[in-house]
Amino acid sequence: SVTTGAGIRQAFLKFYEDKGHAILPSASLVPEDPTVLLTIAGMLPFKPIFLGQRKSPVPRATTSQKCIRTNDIENVGRTARHHTFFEMLGNFSFGDYFKEQAVAWAWELSTKVFKLNPKNLIVSVFREDDDAFAIWRDQVGVPVKRIIRMDEADNFWTSGPTGPCGPCSEIYYDFHPELGDDNIDLEDDTRFIEFYNLVFMQYNRDADGNLTPLAAQNIDTGMGLERMAQILQKKPNNYETDLIFPIIQTAAEIAGVDYFAIDDSAQISLKVIGDHVRSVAHMISDGITASNVGRGYILRRLIRRVVRHGRLLGIEGAFINKVAESAISLCESAYPDLRERESVIKSELEREEAQFLKTLERGEKLLAEILERKPKQISGDEAFKLYDTFGFPLELTQEIAEENGLTVDVDGFETAMAAQRERAKSAHETIDLLAQGSLSQLGIDSTNFLGYTDVTSQSTVKAI
Ligand code: ATP
Ligand code: MG
Ligand code: MG
Ligand code: MG
Repeated sequence: SVTTGAGIRQAFLKFYEDKGHAILPSASLVPEDPTVLLTIAGMLPFKPIFLGQRKSPVPRATTSQKCIRTNDIENVGRTARHHTFFEMLGNFSFGDYFKEQAVAWAWELSTKVFKLNPKNLIVSVFREDDDAFAIWRDQVGVPVKRIIRMDEADNFWTSGPTGPCGPCSEIYYDFHPELGDDNIDLEDDTRFIEFYNLVFMQYNRDADGNLTPLAAQNIDTGMGLERMAQILQKKPNNYETDLIFPIIQTAAEIAGVDYFAIDDSAQISLKVIGDHVRSVAHMISDGITASNVGRGYILRRLIRRVVRHGRLLGIEGAFINKVAESAISLCESAYPDLRERESVIKSELEREEAQFLKTLERGEKLLAEILERKPKQISGDEAFKLYDTFGFPLELTQEIAEENGLTVDVDGFETAMAAQRERAKSAHETIDLLAQGSLSQLGIDSTNFLGYTDVTSQSTVKAI
């Protein structure tokens, strides 16, 4: 039966191809949609179709979409299931089939192709979605205690403050069905993992928050490839699956440590490296270069986190390209562009790593001095100096502060930043880390940008 990452991807696409879906290639991580910085879900390339602005050449499609969610950056290595880079497997109906069919196929795929035992499955529906509840109960035969009604925050999917949206229904894997059906808490990630989200895309939300029905009823779904791999490979987390673990092992070898023998925080460092190196290789391959704004800043921040976690593991000097090579060779059969763009990826990584290493040491010395004074807080001026002189992203300083039980005076940091901006003569040379500023520098109209709730917050600069 199917267990490898490549096998899961192929089985998913084949299943839906057999059900009349056209297999389409993954779109770039750089979206056409100007409201998000990076592709955050499989539906994003289809947004104009859902909105009726573009006609789909096919009524049904299936994809394995590269995604990056920076809202999950703090979860990386800390939860068993979140990455920055992951692949979202999806099946889409553009005004063709709807709820009943989507539910029936999702169940067939999960239980017949991936052979998950129905006893291990549990589903959620939007609180008001009686139709979906009835479909799971009557058509699929899920016991009513295992159909959990959830609120809007979890079960009404939207790709942003405006745009196509709708109630959704999620399938979770239950690692411990023996614990029974009373007191079910789907948030308990020691017991449950969400792996498949079915969105019944049927409304458009306007800027005033009003919902109007779309011209057609659509289906948009997403299954996390790494999560299905975790389940089928019986691993304790996504990181130990064949989709990522070889990269982690390469990093462990360079650090001279044994992943299975080290403590939690060192394991987290290895997981961060494994995750982020996949992200940055794909980002550079899709044309992003490191900078201080927008997507470029996300890339820079991810690279700097890799370097820093390498140092936490005791790695000295440059190492990122050895890990990148491991990521490229692991991913190239599914994404040949990684090998084709290998030299671009490696020269960008080498340059960024070298530049950061140069200042990191001095910055770390300054930080050590600050910490030695045992302050309650790292001041705004200090955080700004670390940022401005030593290239420490504010979030990195915050992370280090947190590790030492401290906070950072963010308001003070912003004041120092504003003062610096005043001093800077030419506006376009100013490094602007504020969310709206970064977006406007990307040519995005920040007046329309309200910031996102839920899944899309990953793409605001604020969230990184
Ligand atoms: P979670 O509640 O676990 O954060 P989500 O509800 O935010 O997941 P969706 O927006 O519904 O996720 O995305 C569809 C699917 O994509 C999820 O069911 C999951 O399998 C996968 N997925 C979402 N976020 C991540 C991530 N950060 N890393 C890996 N897989 C993810
Ligand atoms: Mg969820
Ligand atoms: Mg979900
Ligand atoms: Mg999430």
